[in-house]
Amino acid sequence: MLQRVVDDCGGCGKGLVVSRQEFIRAALALAAVPLLRPIEAFAAAPAGSGIEVSEIAPGVFVHQGRYEMQSPKNRGDMANAGFVVGSDAVAVIDTLGSEKVGVDLRNAIQAVTNKPIRYVINTHMHPDHVFGNAAFKQDSPAFVANHKLARGLASRADRYLATNKRMLGDDAFAGIEIVLPTVAVDDKTALDLGGRTLILETQRTAHTDNDLTITDTATDTLFLGDLLFSMHVPTLDGSIRGWLALIDDLKQRKAARVVPGHGPHAMQLPEAVEPEQHYLATIAADVRKLIKDGKTLEDATKTAGFEERDAWKLFDDYHVRNVTAAFAELEWE
Ligand SMILES: [Zn+2]
Repeated sequence: MLQRVVDDCGGCGKGLVVSRQEFIRAALALAAVPLLRPIEAFAAAPAGSGIEVSEIAPGVFVHQGRYEMQSPKNRGDMANAGFVVGSDAVAVIDTLGSEKVGVDLRNAIQAVTNKPIRYVINTHMHPDHVFGNAAFKQDSPAFVANHKLARGLASRADRYLATNKRMLGDDAFAGIEIVLPTVAVDDKTALDLGGRTLILETQRTAHTDNDLTITDTATDTLFLGDLLFSMHVPTLDGSIRGWLALIDDLKQRKAARVVPGHGPHAMQLPEAVEPEQHYLATIAADVRKLIKDGKTLEDATKTAGFEERDAWKLFDDYHVRNVTAAFAELEWE
């Protein structure tokens, strides 16, 4: 039987497909590879509740979320989260979608390092990236985000809490609270973790109006948050024009690897952004044509971009909302 062992580089072609015997050999060989240790090495939390993290570059760890809507079973574990370990301190990048999985992420960090968690960075305001923040309050970190995040999250707090309570169920929802940033990034800032620096940059309105990217300069790893979706259909909550313009910029950008908000642990530019670019450009083109032809929003939600359906997971959950947002934006061009 064939099984996929490692495909961590998002289409870079280095994934392995091997037999069971080869699987064991490959697992042993992987144990000797410092850049991608076997995930089990960090399965720290108690059996049944832990989450897995992979070291994608020295001191840079990523947990890959599931391609699912939030549910009692996944407890809000649907986005990627990461952490970077310096010689003095740890920075967490996103905290997953509940206090429960936030605790699991914290346990996974403590299995890797006893350095203090000094920073919790949120890439944007969506619950699947920020609802684990409460798990880190005991560390008294600086909660760091785009300066627009607090306003956006506060204005949607009631709705986000109600929706997640309903979808997660009482058990998985317990412990969730809105934890707003204590440090707001206006443009660009640097965080010193000891021996390595993170560069945080606010971005133009794209996925949301409060996206923030993080570069670990020691390894040239770029965390893109939900500016990059892979496999999971992109979700548009900002500006389709802004996002497409930002993707053009990203295609010119160099990084050793990028980490998507949803998708594999790590990917390569420029290929990583191409499926997302195709999806958004297709919606924009279809919606512009419909508007030009005098069609309505309802027409658009039945036709625009549907040729992309087979390319994405969770398409039926988000696509019509994306078309609706695009229509509202583009009809005023
Ligand atoms: Zn998001």
